[in-house]
Amino acid sequence: IRQINKVVQRISHDEHLLNKMASKDPLTNLYTRRIFNEHFELEVSNSKRYNTTAFIVLIDVDHFKNVNDAHGHNAGDIVLKEIGKLILSLCRESDLACRFGGEEFVILVKSGHLSDVKVLAERVRSTIEKMPFYIDDKQSLSITISAGISCYTETTDNCLEIISAADKALYRAKNSGRNRICIAENENKE
Ligand code: GH3
Ligand code: MG
Ligand code: MG
Repeated sequence: IRQINKVVQRISHDEHLLNKMASKDPLTNLYTRRIFNEHFELEVSNSKRYNTTAFIVLIDVDHFKNVNDAHGHNAGDIVLKEIGKLILSLCRESDLACRFGGEEFVILVKSGHLSDVKVLAERVRSTIEKMPFYIDDKQSLSITISAGISCYTETTDNCLEIISAADKALYRAKNSGRNRICIAENENKE
């Protein structure tokens, strides 16, 4: 029996470790898209039920392909890692910072006001704009990001609509010159 208990203990420890590994992106140490989806779905259904509002900030690194092309994939990885750290440092305990894919990040802000979310996004943008990204002991790069903000509204049916609204806002940020934050159109009523 004692042996069996030991094995069971080891298995549950391993399972715990595996779950932890699957929930965090290894490069940036932010939560994965899978975890984001789980939390986001829950927040949207809470918003519906309790008449609250969940926000997302969808962040995309500007001209990131140029970083890889000019300085190599490893330099690109360093930049992503540093951006991940910075985002995490600016988020609150209740926010969920995730790597959405490639050079895209998403912050789930579970409640609050649009004005606070704007402040957070603007802080991420302006800090990245100012900070040097050291890709080796001699060279540092300047990086900028663009972002789109959207949130749950009364007419929201599902999460995908909110993501697509943030994506459209992000697209506008890119097309109007990058290094800026745009708010999804249906949310301009503060
Ligand atoms: P835009 O300002 O329009 O967003 O331009 P962009 O160059 O950032 O966008 P594009 O989608 O053309 O390029 C994204 C690049 O990100 C291409 C891809 O190779 C790179 N990338 C995605 N994931 C990683 C990664 O984990 N590491 C590195 N180094 N590069 C990555
Ligand atoms: Mg992209
Ligand atoms: Mg990009």
